[in-house]
Amino acid sequence: MTNSPEHALSVLAVPAFNDNYLWLIHDGANAAVVDPGDADVILAALRAHGLTLSAILLTHHHTDHTGGVAQLLQHFAIPVFGPRNDAITAVTEPLGENDVAEVAALGLALSVIDVPGHTKGHIAYVRDGGDINGAPWLFSGDTLFAGGCGRLFEGTPGQMAESLGKLAALPDATLVYCAHEYTLSNLRFASAVEPGNEALRERVAHDTEKRQQGLPTVPSTIALEKATNPFLRYREPAILASLKVAGKLSSDASPVEAFAALRMWKNNF
Ligand code: ZN
Ligand code: FE
Repeated sequence: MTNSPEHALSVLAVPAFNDNYLWLIHDGANAAVVDPGDADVILAALRAHGLTLSAILLTHHHTDHTGGVAQLLQHFAIPVFGPRNDAITAVTEPLGENDVAEVAALGLALSVIDVPGHTKGHIAYVRDGGDINGAPWLFSGDTLFAGGCGRLFEGTPGQMAESLGKLAALPDATLVYCAHEYTLSNLRFASAVEPGNEALRERVAHDTEKRQQGLPTVPSTIALEKATNPFLRYREPAILASLKVAGKLSSDASPVEAFAALRMWKNNF
């Protein structure tokens, strides 16, 4: 990492549609946007904060994450980083596992992790932490949500479980910037599956209060997700017991079968 202290970066949440968050990473002058599904809200945020757009970063091909790209490119001649294995015609910098997205204007380097499952090419972006940068960041798109995970549109349960495992291995302090405000609904499911989890009970109270105040529950942290998110906890005896009591899982099931049963249960919850 080569960030210098004069490049102190912030992350701004730009709400769009019903429940999307578009993320603006900026240093007070230049900005990069993650998953601009809507250009108008980004153009307004850039104007309001006096920012120039320097790069677009995409996690996967869905329209609520890419729909604003063409319009933004009419205003800014900038690189579009995105997954090599999702078909997105606007991408100029195709990325996969172990690649680094360099946003020169921000002195920002984001490493790329392949996280197939929601789509077959979905990627996540990670900024390392450290003394200069502060807390590490994860832009997880529709893979890891606060309290949940994305639906399996193109990948298998085994792929998604492995992708989430890679994200869970990031440092505990990593801030998790996911793409939707689904938290309270995710936590309702989590509570049904693991009613005895004290950390989960505290999280429900805390995040419910945030929503009542009109505040985002995102970012969360990897530590909080590991303590409360059932899709990172599908090996826990209490969760396996809930799956069996509900008749969703046989007693000799593998961990991936447990993950698949959990994801299926959530689909119909
Ligand atoms: Zn999506
Ligand atoms: Fe989405």
